Amino acid sequence: MKAVLIIADGLGGRPTDVSGKTCLEAAQTPNLDELASRGVIGLVDPIAPGIRPGSDTAHLSLLGYDPYQVYAGRGVFECLGIGMSVQPGDICFRANFATVTPDEDGFIVEDRRAGRISSGQHELAEALNAISLEKSVGVEFDFRASTQHRGALLLRGKQLSPFVTDNDPHESGKKAIAFQPVVGHDDEVACRTATAMNELVSYSYEVLHDHPVNQQRQRAGEHPANYILARGASILPYLDPIETLYGVRGAVIAGGALYRGIALACGMERIDAPGTTGGLDTDLASKAKTVLEALRRLDYVFLHVKGTDNAAHDHDAKAKTAFIERIDAELVGPLMEDIDWERTHLAFTGDHTTPIDYGDHTAEPVPVLFVGPNVRQDSTIAFGEREASRGGLCRFSGRILPMLFNYNNWNPKFGS
Ligand code: ZN
Ligand code: ZN
Repeated sequence: MKAVLIIADGLGGRPTDVSGKTCLEAAQTPNLDELASRGVIGLVDPIAPGIRPGSDTAHLSLLGYDPYQVYAGRGVFECLGIGMSVQPGDICFRANFATVTPDEDGFIVEDRRAGRISSGQHELAEALNAISLEKSVGVEFDFRASTQHRGALLLRGKQLSPFVTDNDPHESGKKAIAFQPVVGHDDEVACRTATAMNELVSYSYEVLHDHPVNQQRQRAGEHPANYILARGASILPYLDPIETLYGVRGAVIAGGALYRGIALACGMERIDAPGTTGGLDTDLASKAKTVLEALRRLDYVFLHVKGTDNAAHDHDAKAKTAFIERIDAELVGPLMEDIDWERTHLAFTGDHTTPIDYGDHTAEPVPVLFVGPNVRQDSTIAFGEREASRGGLCRFSGRILPMLFNYNNWNPKFGS
């Protein structure tokens, strides 16, 4: 048997237009509707009713883990997803290039995203990595650039703590904040970690500001990428590998580093589909093709698409609806065509609701569908929030991957 899990980030919505429909309900989705009519649908609270999920905690929960037990911050998943090898004890941060101007005792953040820099990031990262932390003896670090201004940073050394605050003021025109020990965890180890991070970001300005890449950016009237903002300090959590839990092997296909990182932490392998961007311009047909190829070799595939959430954060109902239609036509269509439906179960859902008006995640449950030979078909014939509330699965919390695997008889028995 084979299994496919598709998560469209931020898929769920609230009514957006005069017709009172959500983006998913308004979108023309003949293929998802067909799958809903062949399968069973319902509503899933990604974590639990009333909990507003982050994408990271929601994914952990949907993959069958208890985020309250295992979640230790986002930075580690970003580091893993970018391809860094994270070791126990390393402190991982989500990091990005920013534009700052110095003032008398610090730096003012002019642009948190350094003009969404799109070239030269790897040269800048190289210059940054040549820094040695003179005051923080024995502490090493590694910065990796990913897409645009984004990247990840890893701090390595004896006696480091994940209990340090962020330096990101989260608003342009404000001062970069000094890293500090988290209140209640302000021991010597956390102080040492905060000192190393403060040393690192102050050197980052020295090394980056006059770098040739930034000189060129300034000549072109662009914001220099002359500073590092870091947040989400975390260590490697222990997650029981999926192969240990269910005895099956699978892969993740995702444009966003965070999602690859979470899946890698669960023991999946990473497959890169050509043309994936983690945005609205991603190549969905390429993703479908890569899923079908991976299924020949592996037991299951987890496919993530991010564009739905990006459009919703940008308050763009049209873009979200259009992207859902693209998912239906360019991703779900080809999969329906070529999957061996006699021996495959597929689940399609979102990791949370991201309403257009609010522009951030909310706690409403998200529609989910399961289809395949062992599924007890219900009477619904369309895929959407309200249709799902009438589906045979009713409403439940998290654990989509174990539910999918159960149809393939892969799950261990609890008790005798
Ligand atoms: Zn999400
Ligand atoms: Zn989001």
